[in-house]
Formats: sequence, structure tokens, C-alpha cells
Amino acid sequence: MIEKTYCGEVKPELDGQRVKLAGWVYSNMRVGKKIFLWIRDSTGIVQTVIAKNIVGEEVFEKAKKLGRESSVIVEGIVKADERAPGGAEVHVEKLEVIQAVSEFPIPENPGQASPELLLDYRHLHIRTPKVSAIMKVKETLIMAAREWLLKNGWHEVFPPILVTGAVEGGATLFKLKYFDKYAYLSQSAQLYLEAAIFGLEKVWSLTPSFRAEKSRTRRHLTEFWHLELEGAWMDLWDIMKVEEELVSYMVQRTLELRKKEIEMFRDDLTTLKNTEPPFPRISYDEAIEILQNKGVKIEWGDDMGADEERVLTEEFDRPFFVYGYPKHIKAFYMKEDPQDPRKVLAADMLAPEGYGEIIGGSEREDNYDKLVQRIIEEGMNPKDYEWYLDLRKYGSVPHSGFGLGVERLVAWVLKLDHIRWATLFPRTPARIYP
Ligand code: ATP
Ligand code: MG
Repeated sequence: MIEKTYCGEVKPELDGQRVKLAGWVYSNMRVGKKIFLWIRDSTGIVQTVIAKNIVGEEVFEKAKKLGRESSVIVEGIVKADERAPGGAEVHVEKLEVIQAVSEFPIPENPGQASPELLLDYRHLHIRTPKVSAIMKVKETLIMAAREWLLKNGWHEVFPPILVTGAVEGGATLFKLKYFDKYAYLSQSAQLYLEAAIFGLEKVWSLTPSFRAEKSRTRRHLTEFWHLELEGAWMDLWDIMKVEEELVSYMVQRTLELRKKEIEMFRDDLTTLKNTEPPFPRISYDEAIEILQNKGVKIEWGDDMGADEERVLTEEFDRPFFVYGYPKHIKAFYMKEDPQDPRKVLAADMLAPEGYGEIIGGSEREDNYDKLVQRIIEEGMNPKDYEWYLDLRKYGSVPHSGFGLGVERLVAWVLKLDHIRWATLFPRTPARIYP
């Protein structure tokens, strides 16, 4: 490995010191007998200055031809200079070209390229500073979640991805051949987490989930990262508290550690700063009333899609819950509301600023007979859920859980215009390459 100083470490305090930088050319500008070569690495960008009288004619000519993303190693002396980005530049004494590039397919300001071009060249796009910032924010949100979960006694488990049954409805299953049988890619780890609570009580997992969503919205991927929790002895109201504490911690910690990256995308941090418990809670009935008063055509019993949720979010300046959804629009495993059998004990967490659902959660049906009845009502075969039904036969307990879509959270935190920018190589109905 090359001993090097990272670009992010080049500060005015290093004035006079010799450093070696290794990275990629970000921009190359000649002014008279000097070349201002900006070098980028994983930590930032540094202005280096190549003067003909110091490096000589030959190196100077070579440097002149270095296009964007050429890989280089330079050695030189740090000089504090207010005009340089970061307040310091490097006066080059030695330049080693690892690979010269004449033309990089992505324009210097990727915002000027079409999304299609950026997605076709996603393997090159991901090295640009804004994409690196998105990935650092995503990584930090997950790191913060791990911190919180560890501190609060949740056990991490590692459920299977190859499964035999649907969790979120058969229509969005990816089917694949499994020797002489068929299997599916997991839509959610939930059923397996439910099995795990009997030993570990409070469990969580972070896995990819797969959904063959045909709807091409700005918030659906066919492969996304799913952070799921399941807790024994918890009712809906208990798990909602867990959700708001976890999400607040993730957002506050990321604000603390990644403010610079967040500010590359957001001028206004108000909604993030507001993300502190308790979050507002409104019932589904109230949500329908708000929407109707705003002129949205929706009736009690209708599901809320991205469009309806967007209108609802105008009422809030922080994440909020909608609870008490009608039974027929929700999954079979959700517990019926004992006060109102038309409803289930379910709550979604919605992000403000138009983003909508980031978490779906509920108390689970823990009664064997009721669960069998729900499976039949949904037109499914209880035989296919035999192992899952066993959990209601041997020491069944009240329990609740939820799933958070990591890319949905990232998209809101950074106000991205599409969820596909929140993942390294997005998978959508139209795209599985690169
Ligand atoms: P939606 O109604 O938006 O399709 P859902 O109700 O089907 O979502 P859940 O089954 O509740 O989603 O999944 C839990 C969480 O996983 C969601 O709140 C969301 O954050 C995330 N999620 C679900 N489907 C997708 C997807 N296709 N792409 C990205 N994230 C998703
Ligand atoms: Mg949901």
C-alpha cells in the first residue's frame, strides 16, 4: 500500500510540510506557466500547483494533457493559501502518472447529464463526490442504528434470503428454480424474525429484500436494504416508541457526523433537527378526513399511495405516524383491533417533505385460530404456513415489529428526487445493468 496523505487531511496547519497524495484528477486548468491540478480521493479535493520552472518542461507537458479521472501520485509542499479550497494547496515537486485519461464519459457537473446517462455509466458515476457523500450518509445511518440497537439490547440475526413463502403478497415475488422445486427471493425477513423472538426476545436484521414491483414510482426499487425489528411482549404502541427512538438516533447521529455531506444536498436542516421523539400520531380515519378536506378523492377503506401520502406530509415538519389502517388493505399477519374488527393494529411512519412511508409496522396476530382464518380469507393455503403457525401453538406471546426501507430514509434525509440515487447499483423493472 502507498503511504499517502489523504486529501481531507491537507489543512493550513500542515504549511511547509512535504506530503504525498494519491488520487484522481478532478480538474485541470492551465494559467500561464502554472497548472492548477485538482486531485480527488475518498476524503476530498486538494488544489495542487504545478510550475514549469520547478517540475521541468517534460513533466509540465505531461501534466497539461491529464484529463479528468487520470490516476496520479504527486509529492510536494503544503502551502496555506486562503484562495485554495480548504485553505491549503500543494506545490508539486514530483508527479507520477499512473494512468492518463483523455475523456471521462460523465460531465464535470453530473447534474447536467441525463439520468439515463448517469445510470448507464453508474459504475463510473459512483466515484463522483456527490455519490460518495450519499454512500457515506447511508453508511452512517446504518452505523448509528447498530449503535442504538446494541445499547438497547437488540440481538442481530441473519435470516435466509431464499424462501418458500410470501410475506407481502404473491404478486411481487421473484421466483427461481431451486433444484427440482421452486423458491423465492425474500420480500421481508419478518416471519423468520418472529420465530427468532422465542429465543432472543428482541431481534433485528439488515438484509436485502426483493419485490417485483411493477409500479414505477420514485420510491420503489426491486432490491432494497431492509432493517427489520421484532420484539416479544410488545404491543403496537410499544413498537412505535422503539421506531421513533431508533429513527431519531439515526438522524441525529448522522447530522452530527455527516453535516458537511448532508449540506451538499440540503439548505434547510429543520425537519432533520425536528426528528426527536415523540413523533405526531394520527389515525387512518383522521388522515382520510385531512385528505378529503384538501380535495383528494379518497374514501374510508382506500389504500394510500405515494400521491395521497405526499399531500398528507404537507401537514407535518417531522416524521409522523398513521395508525389503525383498515384490515383489508394490510397483510394477513397483522393483529385485528379488538375495539374495531374492521381495522388492524398497524402503523406506518411517514417522512415529511413529500416523501411518505419509510416504515411499515404492526402488532402481529398471536392467536392460532384467528391467524388461520386470516390466511384463508386472503385466499392462501394454511398448509404453506405450517411452520409459521407452529409459533402460535408453542408459547405464543404478544409481539410486534416493523421494517424500515434504508434507501427511503436516505432519500428523505438528502432530499433525493428518486430512490435509485440512494443505492450503489439500483435495480428497477427497467434496469439490472450495470
Ligand atoms: P409501499 O406501500 O410504499 O409499496 P409497502 O407497504 O409495500 O410499501 P412494507 O411491506 O411495509 O412496504 O415494507 C416495509 C418498508 O420497506 C417500507 O416502509 C419501505 O420503507 C420499504 N420498502 C418496501 N417496498 C420497497 C421497495 N420496493 N423499494 C424500496 N423500499 C421499499
Ligand atoms: Mg407498508
